[in-house]
Amino acid sequence: MTTLPNCPTCGSAYTYEDRGLFVCPECGNEWNESVAAQEEEGLVVKDSNGNLLQEGDSVTVIKDLKVKGASNPIKQGTKVKNIRLVEGDHNIDCKVDGFGPMKLKSEFVKKN
Ligand SMILES: [Zn+2]
Repeated sequence: MTTLPNCPTCGSAYTYEDRGLFVCPECGNEWNESVAAQEEEGLVVKDSNGNLLQEGDSVTVIKDLKVKGASNPIKQGTKVKNIRLVEGDHNIDCKVDGFGPMKLKSEFVKKN
């Protein structure tokens, strides 16, 4: 028997599994098991000011960031909503308006 994790976004216990993804019926969040595992490990991601970032936070980019394959950089001051924390060099997984899904380094953002 598998124990389903609570929703990392809203904390709901009414989650279910669907094709390898966990789904929360209350806020519509979908996430995969590796994200849930990182939650339990207590992944620590800090912004440029040393503030702890959390899943779902909104941040602002503090410098122009070059994007592979894009003709324009992500501009300083760009606001990014609903970030996800991941392990690695680029430890923020997010969607940037005009660019799509993107991974950023937490040292180049600040919490809003
Ligand atoms: Zn939820």
